[in-house]
Amino acid sequence: MVKKNIVYKTNLEAIRARKEKVGKTGKGGKKGYLNLKDGISYVRIMPNEKGDPFYDMSLHYNVGVRSGLRCLRSIEKACVVCDFGWDLYNEAKDSGSKKTLDRARDILPKQRYFANVVERGKEEEGSKIWGFSETVYESLIGFFLDPDYGDLADIDQGFDIKIIYGKKKDERFATTTVSPRPKTSTLLPKGAKITLEELFDGVVDIEGQFVYKSEEEVEEVLQKFIQSQSEDEASRNDDGEEGEGEGEEEPEGKDVEDAWNETVAD
Ligand SMILES: [Zn+2]
Repeated sequence: MVKKNIVYKTNLEAIRARKEKVGKTGKGGKKGYLNLKDGISYVRIMPNEKGDPFYDMSLHYNVGVRSGLRCLRSIEKACVVCDFGWDLYNEAKDSGSKKTLDRARDILPKQRYFANVVERGKEEEGSKIWGFSETVYESLIGFFLDPDYGDLADIDQGFDIKIIYGKKKDERFATTTVSPRPKTSTLLPKGAKITLEELFDGVVDIEGQFVYKSEEEVEEVLQKFIQSQSEDEASRNDDGEEGEGEGEEEPEGKDVEDAWNETVAD
């Protein structure tokens, strides 16, 4: 007989992670979100009533809220996650600990951008939310203002966007690069299995997907996060000390792309 170890406890964090996922995932990623696969994808940004297809928000990742926790400082309220992050940051500055600095950077808010898009070849799936980093956002703004292109989102003569996504060899995070296709096209191709009316009726309210939690709720998220961190720390100490990371700098925004794709993936 092979002797087996008896396990006495369930890892509640794993169960919590399951709860977060309930009702949110389906085949091919979270419904209503653009889930980029490695390689090339084509999307078309949809125009909207406010006349500006972009939405930007300040989000905390890595604190147990899968899609990102909206930072209350962006509405002039106190944000305990920011306070905690900056405390860690200052602690790292004093001690010179790279590990603490990484922890601080993981949870400090990231500026995140969104637009409603149609995925080429999957028009009948309706509009989807595409989330991207500041780097991608700046490229897109540049194309909108470039006289060679102009209004990429124009329904009749806009431009599709080519997205190249993936992790290159030796890179820690996946990168996303965008460029407009060189020819204009209509938002929906001839023979599309969805009408413009159906498409716009089904537009997901992006702001509505990221509602602000109350100060009390944010406090609760932070407490849970700190609790899970100290549990992790305890289990790590059992398995031996984890090595300090190397002092490489990560380009801003790339980790955010990964966070988004993890959010919308299966
Ligand atoms: Zn904050």
